[in-house]
Amino acid sequence: MTKLKESIQILQACEDIKEFNLVFGTWGNISVLLEDNNILITPSGIPYDDMREEDLVICDMNGNVLHGNQKPSSELKMHVSIYKKRADVKAIVHTHSLYSSIASATLKEIPLLTEDLAMALGGPIKVTNYQTAGTKELADEVVEKLGSVNAVVLSNHGQTSVGPTLEDAVLSAVMCEKACMLYVKSLEISKSPRVLSEEEIHKMRDAYTTSYRKLREYRE
Ligand SMILES: [Zn+2]
Repeated sequence: MTKLKESIQILQACEDIKEFNLVFGTWGNISVLLEDNNILITPSGIPYDDMREEDLVICDMNGNVLHGNQKPSSELKMHVSIYKKRADVKAIVHTHSLYSSIASATLKEIPLLTEDLAMALGGPIKVTNYQTAGTKELADEVVEKLGSVNAVVLSNHGQTSVGPTLEDAVLSAVMCEKACMLYVKSLEISKSPRVLSEEEIHKMRDAYTTSYRKLREYRE
């Protein structure tokens, strides 16, 4: 496979999610939508520490493997379904991080408690109905409950986070984990922690994306 800049970005993101303590064992996966609309995705069952550029797999939007010697992640259907539904999403990070997993077994929705979460995620995080890992049914649930925000919690499983770049998707994953941690810990102190209203969240998200876009255009 020819060298892709996105391969380096994915290997870096694997390092980053480990650094942020979002990884347990080999579970979780990362993908990027390439310019030709194919998907570069991490392989199934290879530890992040051992993963090399040549282990990454390129698939088309129908889930067919185009390049690579490994099996693509078992959650490929979920990645494909998200890219088909959300034109703004160019990268996806799926992890079984601790607080997202706790929330996945105890909550129906994770309200946002702080400004940074509102800016990064753009809305409260929904929890899917339970579906078996790797299935089309789970992929459909994820797309529905993700809606237009940047993270969703998968019932009795973990979390999936998205972004317009892989850097943004990693940030969404970190903030999803933080959102779950804050809410779970807040519930230990109060039965009804004060949560941000959807109106306030949208206001902060709009301000963030506007200034962020300007900053990015300036850099480019
Ligand atoms: Zn998983």
